[in-house]
Amino acid sequence: MKNSWHALEGPEVLRRLGVDPADGLDAGEVARRLAQHGPNRLPEPPRRPAWQRFALQFHNPLIYVLLAAGLATLLLGSLVDAGVILGVVLINALIGHIQEGKAEQALAAVRSMLAARATVQRGGERHQIDAGELVPGDIVWLEPGDRVPADLRLLQGRNLRTVESALTGESAAVDKDTGAAAEGAPLGDRHGMAFSGTLVAYGSGSGVVVATGGATEIGHIGQLVSGVQTLATPLTRRLDRFARQITAFILGVSVLTMAWGHFVAGMALFDLFLAVVGLAVAAIPEGMPAVVTIVLAIGTRVMARKKAVVRRLPAVESLGSVTVICSDKTGTLTRNEMTAVRVVLPGRELRVTGTGYAPEGGFHLADGSVLHPGHEPALMTLLHCALLCNDARIHREDDKGWVLTGDPTEGALTTLAHKADLDAATAAQAFPRLDAIPFESERQIMVTLHHDHAGHHELLLKGAPERVLALCTGEAGGRPLDCARWTAAVERAGGAGERVLALARCDWPTGRTEVDLADLTPRFEMLGLVGIIDPPREEAVAAVAECREAGIRVKMITGDHAVTAAAIGRQLGLQADRALTGDAVAALDDAALRRAAQDTDVFARASPEHKLRLIAALQAEGHQVAMTGDGVNDAPALKAADVGVAMGGKGTDAAREASDLVLTDDNFATIARAVREGRVVYDNIKKSLMHMLPTNGGEAGVILLAIFAGLPLPVTAGQILWVNTVTSVTLALSLAFEPAEPGVMRHPPRPPQESIITRALGGRILFVIGLMIAATFWVFHWELARGTALETARTAAVNTIVMCELFYLFNVRHFTRHAWRAETLTGNPVALGVAALLVGLQLLFTYAPPLQRLFHTTPLHASSWAMILAMGAGVFVLVEAEKALLRRRGVRRI
Ligand code: ATP
Repeated sequence: MKNSWHALEGPEVLRRLGVDPADGLDAGEVARRLAQHGPNRLPEPPRRPAWQRFALQFHNPLIYVLLAAGLATLLLGSLVDAGVILGVVLINALIGHIQEGKAEQALAAVRSMLAARATVQRGGERHQIDAGELVPGDIVWLEPGDRVPADLRLLQGRNLRTVESALTGESAAVDKDTGAAAEGAPLGDRHGMAFSGTLVAYGSGSGVVVATGGATEIGHIGQLVSGVQTLATPLTRRLDRFARQITAFILGVSVLTMAWGHFVAGMALFDLFLAVVGLAVAAIPEGMPAVVTIVLAIGTRVMARKKAVVRRLPAVESLGSVTVICSDKTGTLTRNEMTAVRVVLPGRELRVTGTGYAPEGGFHLADGSVLHPGHEPALMTLLHCALLCNDARIHREDDKGWVLTGDPTEGALTTLAHKADLDAATAAQAFPRLDAIPFESERQIMVTLHHDHAGHHELLLKGAPERVLALCTGEAGGRPLDCARWTAAVERAGGAGERVLALARCDWPTGRTEVDLADLTPRFEMLGLVGIIDPPREEAVAAVAECREAGIRVKMITGDHAVTAAAIGRQLGLQADRALTGDAVAALDDAALRRAAQDTDVFARASPEHKLRLIAALQAEGHQVAMTGDGVNDAPALKAADVGVAMGGKGTDAAREASDLVLTDDNFATIARAVREGRVVYDNIKKSLMHMLPTNGGEAGVILLAIFAGLPLPVTAGQILWVNTVTSVTLALSLAFEPAEPGVMRHPPRPPQESIITRALGGRILFVIGLMIAATFWVFHWELARGTALETARTAAVNTIVMCELFYLFNVRHFTRHAWRAETLTGNPVALGVAALLVGLQLLFTYAPPLQRLFHTTPLHASSWAMILAMGAGVFVLVEAEKALLRRRGVRRI
């Protein structure tokens, strides 16, 4: 019985589930069923157990090398050294394990912010709820772009088509209807069902929930629908490869060193072996992948806090190099608070007062005198159409005032009618709707069919003026259609930044209760125009200016009229002297479009397919494109863009799932903030490398030089392991918390192909390696020369390495800005904390007896400490000098 809902007729399903589709379930019944069936969630896929993730930390060529070295050392009988090596391996794995866990948690938290929603009928009203709260028996409404939230037996459907690839693998959309299927019909043939997790590609409908959570078909497969984020991105993969190359290179160098040390320098094999192990450990930047992942994860968390939820980690990187942002207008650049301010009737033009959705304000003639709507039949006919050819509702809530449910453009029209004392509920009763063709961005019109109780039928039409005028044959009052006058009025209103809608009506044969697209032939009479304002968001104006400063072009792509679009574009500070329409875009060939796409900032009357061509044109010009979208048809453009940005509020599930980034506040300014954050993330990854690579290189260089020059080793293998463990991940990681460089949005985007290690950065790395080697050898020999024991000289050398790394950390906090200010110390509390921790650890290393025994260290004289500090400070000053040189050459980022 459980699986044969598809074989029952709709009314029978409703009877068995005990629900009346007009009312839906009531709150008590919902609570009872929720307790019985549990929340509508798929069971979580089993996570890898902690021990397995820990074990995987050892699955790394470097660790194999270390383990082999530890084992060999053990066999050679050096228990202490073997213990140190194995201890280091364990600590490294532990740190990696904890960090990876944190990164995964951060991503999981972000994922859970994108919970699906559902529109249900409950207690006689429509509500938007979290899809997790659905219970069997709920009546659910579906619209294009929705993800079906549970298994539904369909009750109504209009041209409904869903994509069931998640379930059946079939990627084409399948037609849905309300009929029953044979008992044994395969899933793909159960047309009367809409399955959880599938996408509504077209049409609309409603259905009753028959299964939720794990009881749904998708639940049986046990497959999570939402794409699971992984921690890998192109950058981390590139760096992984880089790390492997370095590992191979270092192994090669180690073998050479071994040969040289043995055959040329004649070192004892055992000492040599340990030294080479130390060399390998010192040189390999084993913390690099972990640090990069952490920086990315921290970046996504910061962005989520700023209302930009990252769905795919690579987007964080791409955001930093975005050169063009293509944005929708309505609601993203503008406030989406629509207010009708102008009405043009066949005979005259009126101004409308009042703001927002409150029915306060009235109609005025050109001379400012008040017009009583009841005295103007042409106005009342227009408002009748505006109210009925409309799905928005406005009601008063005690704490929030007048609240809109539905599309803001339509809400403006409803409020307009309210201002003439018309009431939506009364009108709907007097003129019930028989059928409708819903509004779609491509068609730009909406049609409804009504009848009155005297047996008359009429068709009401509203939409973009040029579309509506093309369907009109005359004007209200039997006048001939004066196209020139209407077009002039549209230009006038558009020039004032108003969105213009035309309204029209015609009589309809009484016998017909349906209307379809083929019926839309020139037969309507024009009732008039309504001009609606939707002011730009103030923060969007500021964000557009910020983007311009950051070398990012902002392009507005809107469905509105060209004149309206240009007017709003100017208010936003875009280059709006030229607006290109969708038709013009369609007429251009690819080469011409590439030129036009570069030079134009405002695209009007554009539909989703134009967006797709624009992206291709801009990308062909070498741009990195971020594109916003909200409709089901925007999905291809969102996928094609380098960063697809969906609206979390008004966007469809389809758009959200095709996107890389979701704005929870639908606000353009949030994209600009995300770009800024993307740049910060990239900078911080770079700074981490800028610290990690030269310090690893410096440590390795010290050992290498000693062996090749036949000098005593300034640091032992065990000691280098210590240094690496306490510094490599901690110091570089603190750079992940680095705040934005001042002026991060005042320089042009980095070229997308630019390598993360630029020439300037390579130069810096070599420079610091040189400094560290020099400082360490200097201290080591200075100690030996004044008669200190080898062990003490080594202790001083190790402390020198750590001190140089510590001072250098504060150089790296800014690329080329000088560090002679208090902010250098205070600007990043994490760096300061890590520095304090490191000093503590070094004191333990030098003075704690157990560590002294383990690492063969001895206490140091005050003069040694003074020398060590001087070396650290010296490195700091010299790097600052190098920065000053770069600044003089005009370099701001390296
Ligand atoms: P943007 O791209 O700026 O977000 P948009 O693409 O959402 O805007 P559309 O909603 O496609 O723009 O509107 C395009 C045109 O269609 C509008 O200029 C208006 O004339 C008309 N229009 C908008 N909403 C409706 C509606 N609900 N019914 C009828 N016509 C509408």
